[in-house]
Amino acid sequence: MKIEKAGKELTCAHCGGKDFEGGTALLNTAWMSFLNLDCLDKSADTYVCTKCGRIEWFYPFDD
Ligand SMILES: [Zn+2]
Repeated sequence: MKIEKAGKELTCAHCGGKDFEGGTALLNTAWMSFLNLDCLDKSADTYVCTKCGRIEWFYPFDD
């Protein structure tokens, strides 16, 4: 499926594909510390390119 982020169509950085499968992945504590973020039970939006398998990650900011 096509994904749009920040008003722009998501394009795979590797192969340029525009078809993705969406999912979510929990962000563990180490990763959160690395990002210097407080909230511990956040999950990231992940999109897997159906052409090459590259995973694009997006952090869901609350605003
Ligand atoms: Zn790709």
